[in-house]
Amino acid sequence: MAKRDYYEILGLSKGAAKDQIKKSYRKIAMKYHPDKNPGDKEAEAKFKEAAEAYSILSDEQKKAHYDQFGHPPEGGMGGNPFSGFGGGGFGVDLSDALRIFMEGFGGGGGLGDIFGSGGSRGRSQARGADLKVKLPLTLEEIAAGVTKKLKVQRFENCPDCHGSGARKGTSKSTCSVCHGRGEIQQMTRSMFGQFVNIQPCTNCDGSGEVISDPCRTCRGDGRVRTESVVSAKIPAGVHAGNYMTLRGEGNAARRDGQRGDLIVLIDEKEHDLFIREEDNIYLEIGINMSQAVMGIDLEIPTLTGKVNLKIPAGVQSGKLLRLRGKGMPRLNSHLVGDQMVKIQIETPTKLSGQEREIYQQLAEHYDGSKKSSSIFRKIKSLL
Ligand SMILES: [Zn+2]
Ligand SMILES: [Zn+2]
Repeated sequence: MAKRDYYEILGLSKGAAKDQIKKSYRKIAMKYHPDKNPGDKEAEAKFKEAAEAYSILSDEQKKAHYDQFGHPPEGGMGGNPFSGFGGGGFGVDLSDALRIFMEGFGGGGGLGDIFGSGGSRGRSQARGADLKVKLPLTLEEIAAGVTKKLKVQRFENCPDCHGSGARKGTSKSTCSVCHGRGEIQQMTRSMFGQFVNIQPCTNCDGSGEVISDPCRTCRGDGRVRTESVVSAKIPAGVHAGNYMTLRGEGNAARRDGQRGDLIVLIDEKEHDLFIREEDNIYLEIGINMSQAVMGIDLEIPTLTGKVNLKIPAGVQSGKLLRLRGKGMPRLNSHLVGDQMVKIQIETPTKLSGQEREIYQQLAEHYDGSKKSSSIFRKIKSLL
């Protein structure tokens, strides 16, 4: 099937502006969000389609490529847009679509409830439910990349019956309703002809077998709730609101079904010193008057240890000095941001007798050598 044009999916004309793209996407994604349309496959497909369109059109580079070349030939995107992160390939599965949805709106705060409690979201009953955990990371961990052990409360296959649900030493018997097929066929006649309607058997949950003597440990469910430790390898440069999907690390399914996924939501811990803005890190330092006038070499903390910074003589308050390559690595790239050091010159408020004398001498010196009117300047901009 030919792919629909990304702009058309979002109801836009070609070359639409960034905020238009976001606005349209938001409208469509909200409308078709799986939480609002439980079990509606068509809505789910529309939600995924919009997420895919948005993931391309919201990215400057991918958008430019798409504007120029359109859809790639079937079977590849020429560089998976989610490579290394997000777990999904193109074709956007539901957890990717949800992730893009969260990222599109800044992730995390306030939208958390949209994710709900992590149900199976209209997938077949046999699949275990997805789980979601929040993972707060320090800026240092994000800068270096980190492997974290996550404690997860989840369903595991029952150790006594190995997930079968039948008591040790007993076996299951064939379901008498579906005769082991796991599904029920129903013939329906209509003016268009005869239809065969196939549905999973409710007596055996589609497994074809029933348990006559349930396992005591799991009461026939085939799984027990336990705390497990899952290792998550987080690449350097992630942002708060990014998702990582660990396939098969969610809840075990009832009776031999497919396991759910564990969705790890990245959060960023506030740092005592640094503020992050995209790939750049900001640090403010205070220096005194004489350091500002004469210049000084200072040891400055960065995310990867201390470095030397030469503060030039005559530096002005508010000046930003750049430590190239000392910022945050960019996710899935070799680029690294910078650390910006903002200089604040601290005016002393408590002076010793000697200091007072020195400042007094300076003041007299300036009075004799400069015209005071030179300190008034026109404000250049009110922004
Ligand atoms: Zn059991
Ligand atoms: Zn059955």
